[in-house]
Amino acid sequence: MKTVAPGKRTNIIKAQHGWHHTCERDAMFKETSDFQSKHTSTLCPFGCGESDYRWHFLRCDKSPIAAEVTRELSKLKAMFKRYKVQREMQSILLQRIKATLQRQRLTPMQLHDSTDPVLQAALDEQDVLGWDQFLLGRQSKRWEEVQQKEYSRLASQLPKNSKLPAHYKATVFSKMLIQESTYIALNRWQVHNEVAHTAITAKEYIRDRDKAKKKIQKLLAESRPDHIAFTRQIPVTTESLLSQPLDRMRDWIATWTATKAYLAPSLITTYTTT
Ligand SMILES: [Zn+2]
Repeated sequence: MKTVAPGKRTNIIKAQHGWHHTCERDAMFKETSDFQSKHTSTLCPFGCGESDYRWHFLRCDKSPIAAEVTRELSKLKAMFKRYKVQREMQSILLQRIKATLQRQRLTPMQLHDSTDPVLQAALDEQDVLGWDQFLLGRQSKRWEEVQQKEYSRLASQLPKNSKLPAHYKATVFSKMLIQESTYIALNRWQVHNEVAHTAITAKEYIRDRDKAKKKIQKLLAESRPDHIAFTRQIPVTTESLLSQPLDRMRDWIATWTATKAYLAPSLITTYTTT
């Protein structure tokens, strides 16, 4: 965990404990905070229809990056190669992580008889701990044990008086495994937040626009109830305008600009004097 940059580390710790900011968390504050309630939607921002519960962002198949799992795994794969990770462990880890990110049901796996029993134990232990948790850095210690054995095996094959490169250490491998897998989780979380934030901004924008429109309508209803801006221009919605031919739209914009110029001084006066 120390290998991860401090800011990211905080995020990982928050995510491990379910304290990262999801819409579920927002909902918890709904009764007490006005700020939070404005932003509340307990549904997943990707529109999958499920609630935005703690680690849902890791598995949501509507996440824009869910279709790119192979790319998500590329850094991890490269690390496996760089650190000469034990072959069978590589394929088990990739298979399990992929299945987790693609939201497949994980069933217990019985490895071949010739397989190192430590690897089977690592797999079983991680199945219990959970693979969401693996991506959040809670990993069975036995993965390291398997890799330790692999480095011993590689060392035994070397000619006399030569050593394995210094970075071939099981503890270094463990750090890298945490770093690369939490990277995948944080990346998914970031995408989740970007989408959630955009949705909130769009909602706020529409609400502000509706408010401003109502205000203008009210002012016009008081001062100029028969004005064309009130009767014919304001009721035109963006949608209906867009569906009209281009010259009609141009006309509308021209009239609207003229009306605005004509109305603005009186509206401002009314506004500032009341
Ligand atoms: Zn979802």
